[in-house]
Amino acid sequence: VSSSLRDDLLSVLGAGGVLPDVPRSYLIDETETRDVVGRADAVVLPASADEVAAVLRFAYETRIPVVPRGGGTGYAGGAVPDGGIVLSLERLKAVRSFDPFHWRMHVEAGVTTAQVRERARASGLYFPPDPGAGEQSQIGGNIATNAGGPHAFKYGTTGAWVTGLEVVVPPGDVIHVGGPIRKDVAGYDLKHLFIGSEGTLGIITAAWLRLIPAPEASRAIVAFFPGAVEGCAAIDELLGSGLDLAAIEFVDEEALAATPAAFAPGVGRAFAILVEAEGATAAVGETIEAAAETLVGADFIYSPETSVGQAAIWRWREGMTSGVTAQLGGKVSEDVVVPLDRLADAILGTREIGARHALRACSWGHAGDGNLHSTFMVRRGDPSDFAAADRAALELFDLAIRLGGSISGEHGIGTQKLGQLERYWQPRAYELHTKLKDVFDPLGLLNPGKKL
Ligand SMILES: Cc1cc2nc3c(=O)[nH]c(=O)nc-3n(C[C@H](O)[C@H](O)[C@H](O)COP(=O)(O)OP(=O)(O)OC[C@H]3O[C@@H](n4cnc5c(N)ncnc54)[C@H](O)[C@@H]3O)c2cc1C
Repeated sequence: VSSSLRDDLLSVLGAGGVLPDVPRSYLIDETETRDVVGRADAVVLPASADEVAAVLRFAYETRIPVVPRGGGTGYAGGAVPDGGIVLSLERLKAVRSFDPFHWRMHVEAGVTTAQVRERARASGLYFPPDPGAGEQSQIGGNIATNAGGPHAFKYGTTGAWVTGLEVVVPPGDVIHVGGPIRKDVAGYDLKHLFIGSEGTLGIITAAWLRLIPAPEASRAIVAFFPGAVEGCAAIDELLGSGLDLAAIEFVDEEALAATPAAFAPGVGRAFAILVEAEGATAAVGETIEAAAETLVGADFIYSPETSVGQAAIWRWREGMTSGVTAQLGGKVSEDVVVPLDRLADAILGTREIGARHALRACSWGHAGDGNLHSTFMVRRGDPSDFAAADRAALELFDLAIRLGGSISGEHGIGTQKLGQLERYWQPRAYELHTKLKDVFDPLGLLNPGKKL
């Protein structure tokens, strides 16, 4: 940290708000598995929206980029700086209000996803969004990426649960859009422009969240099929059955082989479908029984009655990322999304692309949303593997578009998919997208080099 920049920032924030140096932990996110490490001139930890505004004002006056940072669990490199000031929201962690009777919570951006869910749960309420790194990811980061997760199938992504935002926008103004209200069509939907904007339009400092009564019970089963074609046909059956399911996840044969299902010995190589229902206890039992009947073509259905067995299912599913990474030390994992009826094409296509580039490939993900974590395994530190995986990823994006899908269903563009939007969007749509950025951030200092 240059001493003059640090002195300037100290005059804006005081001693508690500026780190003496730039720890490496503020220069990375989950793209570290792709060997991505950033650089920064300073790290600030403002403690209020006004302090966030003061930093942005200073940055705008002095023309220094600002990179908002949540829990650093993003997969797109969005929080990885390339110079400038890292602005971490970790000290904005107050629950400003919690009103169980009106099913709402007002939290600051640095509150973690898990804290919101636990706080709601303690009062019999439920905050459904459940991206996989909830102990570390922050609500601000979830909103800035419009994070999904397994239960987005039933409940939608994070944005569906946000009724209002407090945002600091250039050159340093605190604004409010929406609030503790459940409907609002008064103006253009600015709130949804910030949702998923990856820190490029404004810095979210607080959010009003909508909650629902917690389901009385939940139950999951895992069904194993010989291959992706049979498995995807079964997923189609499930969708068409009209059953009220909360999550439908899949793990393909290659991913399962990389991380054998600890709870189902002997199932070494199969296509797995995880199905969960939530609701009143009796209804959940009936729904899961009906789902199992629908999955009649399965070789084996694991259906534990105990909470330990249930927890094992989700532990296995959540361990997929690290299990696959452990195969060769690294992976390039994408998050393409396709129409539900094209899931098998995307899964098989991922493997074909991997084979063409001599890479082990697999996928798993949120089958009910047509959202795949298509993955190419690479040897950590091997540039030729990474180069091959980058070429494979480009073919994967082409495939997703050809199938009528999108290049990102969850993680966003960040730096990892830079240049891709303009390949797929119509020129006029992309022009409008770019102009929005200019309107919000005319000097281009908010998280530059990300998203567009
Ligand atoms: C094990 C694991 C499982 C995961 N599972 C899922 C999943 O199921 N679904 C899913 O969608 N994602 C998943 N993720 C990715 C990640 O957890 C989400 O993208 C999450 O929302 C990121 O939140 P964060 O606080 O860590 O944000 P960061 O990584 O810190 O930042 C992400 C982006 O948001 C911006 N940002 C952060 N905070 C703010 C703010 N307050 N205001 C403005 N911009 C901000 C950053 O600049 C950056 O562009 C997973 C990650 C891991 C490691």
